Amino acid sequence: MGPRYPASVSSRIVTRPTLLDVVEEVTAPSGSTTHRQAAARHRPALSPSRAADFKQCPLLYRLRAIDRIPETPTTAQARGTLVHAALENLFDLPAELRTPEAALDLVDGAWAAICAQAPELRELVPEDETTTFLSGAHKLMTTYFRMEDPSRFDAESCEVRVEVEIDGDVLLRGFVDRVDVAPDGRVRVVDYKTGRSPGEAFEAKALFQMKFYALAIQRTTGTLPTRLQLMYLADGQQLTYDPDRDEIERFGRTLAAIWRAIRTAGTTGDFRPRRSRMCSFCDHRSLCPEFGGTPPPYPGWPEP
Ligand code: SF4
Repeated sequence: MGPRYPASVSSRIVTRPTLLDVVEEVTAPSGSTTHRQAAARHRPALSPSRAADFKQCPLLYRLRAIDRIPETPTTAQARGTLVHAALENLFDLPAELRTPEAALDLVDGAWAAICAQAPELRELVPEDETTTFLSGAHKLMTTYFRMEDPSRFDAESCEVRVEVEIDGDVLLRGFVDRVDVAPDGRVRVVDYKTGRSPGEAFEAKALFQMKFYALAIQRTTGTLPTRLQLMYLADGQQLTYDPDRDEIERFGRTLAAIWRAIRTAGTTGDFRPRRSRMCSFCDHRSLCPEFGGTPPPYPGWPEP
């Protein structure tokens, strides 16, 4: 029998940032004490999404990771948060109770709990749109049950935050939806996506995320996951990746190079905008020189 998933990962489990965190920051005006305190609390780290931000547009990275300018939460994000919460709760149930009916109840219960904690979400999903919103989440959950039967196995852990430093000063931080360990010790990392599977052109981005998790988990636990699996609940497709040790080591060097580029820009504040078709999804066009805006004064790298 191979090694079990080491307990060191359990000690690194913390609450995953959810839409509630987004709402908290949205309600704190940019530049307010609360906003600055939130920024100070977070030592910059490289996550799959922040690395992708920097590669796409250095200014976008700055506005998100350093200035931490709030972005407007969307209904799709709310649905994603909801389904992730329900799936996490599903694996808290005894295996025989993990049925599709129970899962739909968990969706409704999770939504009530989320709204109780953040009544602002009622504005995002008004009362008369709740039924449609929840039925969208139910559909995703129904698709999940077509993809796997959660009553046939137990998850080792859900909603795991992995944080590890590589090469001395590259802090990697990632959130893993679920880790499974087979009886023979093989580790599978599962990430749920509430959107559709990517076209070929975007598969590299998905692969980047999977390699990131493989490296972070390997460096945290000493065990290289056997399989990484992205489950796309909108269309029932899966993307799997079986990492190779040498490839993951090379990927670590790529991440280190990205981090060095970020730190260089962080020293000077020279985060240049890079215009692309992705700009149409950017919340920060009004602050972007490419669209006639002016970014706020650079607050400096948030570390001593
Ligand atoms: S609008 Fe485009 S160029 Fe400007 S910050 Fe956003 S992603 Fe970068």
